[in-house]
Order: sequence, then C-alpha cells, then structure tokens
Amino acid sequence: MNQKNHSRVFGNKLLWLFLICCLASIKVHAGQNETPFLTHYLDPKTEKKIDAILAQMSLEQKIGQMSLRDWGEFKHENMDSVAEEIRSGRIGGFLNVPRNSDDPKAFNRIQKIAVEESRLGIPLIFGHDVIHGYKTIFPIPLGQAASWDPELIEHGARVAAKEATSAGIRWTFAPMVDIGRDPRWGRVAETLGEDVFLASTLGAAMVKGFQGEDLSSPDSLAACAKHFAGYGGVEGGRDYNTANIPMRQLYDHHLPPFKAVIDAGAVSVMSSYSELNGIPGTADRHLMTEILRDKWEFTGFVVSDWNSVMEMVEHGFVADDRDAAKRSTNAGLDFEMHSTALGNNLKDLIAKGEVSQDRIDSAVRRLLRAKIAMGLFETPYSSEGEEFLKEDYLQASKKAAIESFVLLKNKQNVLPLSKKQKVAIIGPLAEVPYQQLGTWIYEGEAKDSHTLLPALNSYLGKMKGNINYAQGLPYSRSTDTKGFKKAIKAAKKSDVIVFFGGEEAILTGEGHSRGDMSLPGAQQLLLDELAKLNKPIVLVLLSGRPNTLEGVLDKVDGLMMAWHPGTMAGPALVDVLYGEQSPSGKLPITWPKSSGQLPVYYDHKATGRPPADDNYTRIQEIDPAVTWQHDPGNSSNHLDYGHRPEFPFGYGLSYTDFKYSGLKLDSQKLLVGDTLNVSIQIKNTGRRTATEVVQLYVRDLVGDVTRPVKELKAFDRVTLSPGQMKTVEFELDTATLSFHNQELEKTVEPGRFKLWVSRHSQDEENASEFDIIE
Ligand code: BGC
Repeated sequence: MNQKNHSRVFGNKLLWLFLICCLASIKVHAGQNETPFLTHYLDPKTEKKIDAILAQMSLEQKIGQMSLRDWGEFKHENMDSVAEEIRSGRIGGFLNVPRNSDDPKAFNRIQKIAVEESRLGIPLIFGHDVIHGYKTIFPIPLGQAASWDPELIEHGARVAAKEATSAGIRWTFAPMVDIGRDPRWGRVAETLGEDVFLASTLGAAMVKGFQGEDLSSPDSLAACAKHFAGYGGVEGGRDYNTANIPMRQLYDHHLPPFKAVIDAGAVSVMSSYSELNGIPGTADRHLMTEILRDKWEFTGFVVSDWNSVMEMVEHGFVADDRDAAKRSTNAGLDFEMHSTALGNNLKDLIAKGEVSQDRIDSAVRRLLRAKIAMGLFETPYSSEGEEFLKEDYLQASKKAAIESFVLLKNKQNVLPLSKKQKVAIIGPLAEVPYQQLGTWIYEGEAKDSHTLLPALNSYLGKMKGNINYAQGLPYSRSTDTKGFKKAIKAAKKSDVIVFFGGEEAILTGEGHSRGDMSLPGAQQLLLDELAKLNKPIVLVLLSGRPNTLEGVLDKVDGLMMAWHPGTMAGPALVDVLYGEQSPSGKLPITWPKSSGQLPVYYDHKATGRPPADDNYTRIQEIDPAVTWQHDPGNSSNHLDYGHRPEFPFGYGLSYTDFKYSGLKLDSQKLLVGDTLNVSIQIKNTGRRTATEVVQLYVRDLVGDVTRPVKELKAFDRVTLSPGQMKTVEFELDTATLSFHNQELEKTVEPGRFKLWVSRHSQDEENASEFDIIE
C-alpha cells in the first residue's frame, strides 16, 4: 500500500470511530420510538457529524454524492474507470447492480472501493426495484391491495427486505403510492389502487415492512415513495404523459398517500416523469420544496426518476443539460438517477451564482443523513449470506396470493369445485411459471414458481385423473385457433370448465398501457366456443389490470380475479378453487364496463343531476318514435353503459354470507377534534369460515366546495366461523373528514355527514347520519 492509500485508510478509520460512537446512542433512542427514522433525523449529534463530514468534502465530492448511477450502463471493459470515479468520490450510489452477474459479490467489491479507497470513505447506497418481492415474488401491488390487509402487506415487504438485503441491496424504489384511477395505464398494476385512504394505509404498512423496526439494521431496506406527484393522473392512461390536476384534487387525493408513507418513516421520495400542470415533476419546486420540506418537514432526500432530469429537454422545459441541472437542483432535487447533468454542470452553476452552495450542502446533508441512519457507515458490507425462497417466505407469498383473489361472480355456487368433479383446465394463463410473477420483477425466476398443474396433482392425489388440461391458446394475445379442438375435447370430457385468461405480465407495467382493456387475442372466441357446450364455466383472470368483459361476463358462471399472484400462484389457486380457503379479496379499483366509461371511480362528485337506476332510459329502450330531447331523462350517465361500473370499488364475494346488523354511533353530534365510535355486528350466516372486509364510508353532505358522494374512512378484516358473530368497532377522528376549501386551506367543516358501514362502495344498507357542530 503506498503512502497515499495508507493515509486514506487511516483517515477513514478515524471517521468511522467517530461515527460509530455517535450512532450507538442514536440507535437506542431510535429503538424507543415508533418512527425511528424521523427521530434519528432530529438528533443534533447526527447533524454535527454531518457538519464534520461536509467540512472535509470538496465541492466535487459533494456533487459526486448527488449522483446515482445505473450499473447497467457500464461495460465490463469500463470497470477501471468506474472504480476511479468511485474512488475519487464522483458517485454517491448505484442502482441495478445485478445479483446474477459474473461477479456475485459485486456489491461488496464495489462498496470496498468507496469505503476503503476513497478519501472520506463515504459508503455507496445500492438501490433496486424490489417492488413485490425480490426472489420470492408476492402478488403485484394492485393484487396485494385487494387483500385490504396491512399486516399481510407489511410482512410481505419484510420478506422482500430480508431477501434483498441478504444480497447487498439496502434501498428499494417502493412503495408506489400514485393513485391508480385509470386501468388503461400499465402502471396501475404497481399501484395500491384508486383510493386515498387505502393507498395511504397500505403504503405505510409497506414502508414499515421494508424498513423494519430499525433502519440501521442490516436487514432494513430503505423505502422510496414514488412518483412525486400526480403520475397516476396521466392523460388517457398513456404512460409518461401529461397530468393536469387541479390543486384541490392534488392536495386531497394524490398527496395524502405520500404524506402517510413519509410519516411512516420513508427515507426518500422519487420525482415523477410526468409533468404536473406544466411542470415536470423533477423540477417542481412547489412539490419538492414547498410541500415536502417546508410543509411536511421531510428530512429525507429526493431522487429523480431514471433519466428524468434529462427528459426535461424533451418536455420542452429546459434547453440543455446545464439548464436541467439548474432547474432540478434549485427546485429541490438531491440525487440524480442515471443521467449526469448535475455532475457535469453544478460546479459551473455554483461558480456563476445560479445554484447556491447552500442548496448543494442541503442535498448532501440529506443524503449523508440517510446513509448514517441506514447504518451504512457502520455496516457498509452485506453479509453475503444470501437467504432466498425459504419455506416461511413461500408460505407468506402463498397467503398473500390467497388474500388477493377477488371472487366477482359465483352463479349457483359454481365455486368451490369438488375433488370429485371432472375439471377442464383451459386457457393461455393456466400453466405460466413466468407470467404468474407479474410486472417489475428483476430477480424473480420462472424456475422458482409453483405453478397450477403440479399443485393440482399434489392436491388431488389419486383423483388427479379428474383434470383435463388443454391450453387452447399458446399465450394471451394469440389468435392462433389451432389449439381450440383439443380444448373443446378436454371440456367435453369434464363437468366444469375453468378458463385461465387475462393478460401476460408484459401488458402492464411501465410503458405498457392499453386503450382497449378487453381480453386480448382469441380468448373471447375460445370462450364462445366453450360456452356452446352448455357446461358451467369459471373464468380465472390473471392480469395486471381489470379487463373489460363485454360479451364475456354473461357467458361465465364464475369469475375470479387472481391478478399476477407471484411465486406461489399454483398452490394458492388450488386452495381457493377447491374451497380450502374462502376468497376474501375486495376490489381496490373500480372495474369498468368498457374503456369508454373511463374515468370511473367510486368517490366521484354527485353533479347537479345525479344518475339513478330509474331516472334515465337506456339506449336500447329509447322509443324510436320519441323526438323530444328530454324524454329519455336528463341525468349524468352514459346511455349505453349506464352509471354503474361492472363491479364497484370494495366489491368481492365469499363462499359464505355475512349479515350486517345493529349499526351504532356513540354520538350524533360531535365537535371538531372529537372522535366518533361506530360499531356494527357481523355474522357469518353461511357454512364456511371466511373473512369479511368491513368498510366504513362517509359523505360530507354540504361543503364549501362539493364533496365526493362517498369516501372510505376506515376498514377492518374480520374472520368468522359459521354462525359466529362479532362486533366490529371503528374510531373516526373528525380530522379524517378534512378537505381543502375554496381558499385551499385544509379544514373540517361543521355540518351533516352521512355514514355507511358496507360490504362495498355501492352497498347502502347500513347507514346513519351525524353532525359536526360549532
Ligand atoms: C421507473 C421507476 C423505477 C426506476 C428505476 C423508472 O423507469 O419509473 O419507477 O424505480 O426506473 O428502475
């Protein structure tokens, strides 16, 4: 080791000792608090340590910390130059370092350069898209959201964190808490659905699962709330598109889930590719500085999306990379993903006074704070003791899949199946080890998937001869009808047909939107042929979005949405199809009748002419002789689709029935700041043990601005055996009734409210009213 290197290492050791001493006390403090990360942030000692590091850093090194590079962009022959960039402090972290590279110990090798060979030894941060599992894949997030089960989601994220951190990753680009109101948008699969409260609750649970009890623990995976903000509102569901969202809607609808996950301790926030009201997310000062830092007092850092700094040139928002660096940094961006506009230009921008030194220091402070909080200075290396696909991880994934399934139709109890029945398993998505994993998997592998047919065989044992399998179509978009014959033959031999249709994983996810959401390829044609056999048909959909079912729904007796269920799809499907478990999932998104019905979501406004089943005439029934414009009725509807979706938000059937009774409010009059206690009795009146998701909705009847017809404010899961009854209780804090008024002030308004405790968003059976008085 030459003299220079030696002194570097010595310098590092001192710095480490210094940091370890101060971190030891922070940890105890953190462990005592429910939001360890935020408490950590408020620690003056940590800030002092950051001051000490900042004081030693050159401007180049500070700018280097703001650079997050994609490992995939480097070729093997460039490795020496990458190493040199790390060594000289020009890189703050990497994303997408692949585990299955030629060099499985890559993370530690790369980290070693930063920690042991750079002047200050500041560790790198390794980020990755661990979206719904790392090796053990869980259902896609939209599917997980259908469980309405925060504990399950937290546990799934914990499993993902354990697997990913065992490989060397300490930061994930999740949860995505964009509101998913448009199923044409491919990324709806990554959302937690259309509702503010549901996405907030489940997003916060995910953060807790990823980050665990203590962010500095080596198995804690730092979370990143994305994409800030309004990405879910892209026009026409076309990815990366324009979002025009009125401020009130932004504040009441799109931002609260971000606030919730930040309050749950999320370390970082990712800016959005999309523009919001004319400003690309990556340079939106109102979002990144005024709201995030000034209003919410967020102490973590903001990372851009992949190349989104440079994409502002395409947006027509900046002229070149210099301009891009200036506008994004000044708006509050701390960490540039993939592109190098900041690295190439900040020095000059500071020299010319176009970006302040303070802004750079603040960005670097945030990044160092996160790295310290994550324990990276103490434990920069992963244990290299990779632990994947453990039995309890697989069981957790199976449970998540089971809870994600939503039973949407069950005519004459076609489900559950019985072992004695002869069952035709047909369809392009029945035996699909890769497709069942869904979008956004990096490390999930088809070879690890537990698929349907082996699961059926093992479940049915001696009775496995009762299964007649024929794919019918080789993949979801195929129009090749060659396999129809075999499929029809299999169906003829059977008592019931279970058709596995839907969409391959590639039809959702980033960049993959559809205008027409019906079943692709010749699936409908095959279903039409099968329907001619007059046998009961169950349609099981594997898909990243709700598929429109015009001309299909009336041909099937049973319908179950299985999303893309993940590694354990097969055993999970068998358990539910054969009634070992009753389905309990509820839709986290409204299921449209057609693309033409969009936008369609449950918490819409009433309008001055609200539609009702009896106040307009449907298109087929309009008398051809009628000439007077107003005769078919004037209300806000589509003459062809009506005013109801195919299935409402919150909807989902069970193999049992639940009776709701005795809705009680402990008070009819509340003051702002009071809590309303609501209770209801739920009884399992059927013959199977099952879980019901009980949903509480509220309507603020008169507002300073019009209020939605319903808003979900609470929910609970209750598991009941046959005949069992339980009282479900909710506490409703009046603060949850706040909204932004005409002055854009957040307010709870006195007045009358209607409240429902329901099976889904269109169930109005159990209702009451209360007042907030002055
Ligand atoms: C996506 C992000 C993702 C990032 C890093 C982008 O294309 O929009 O959601 O986290 O890539 O892979």
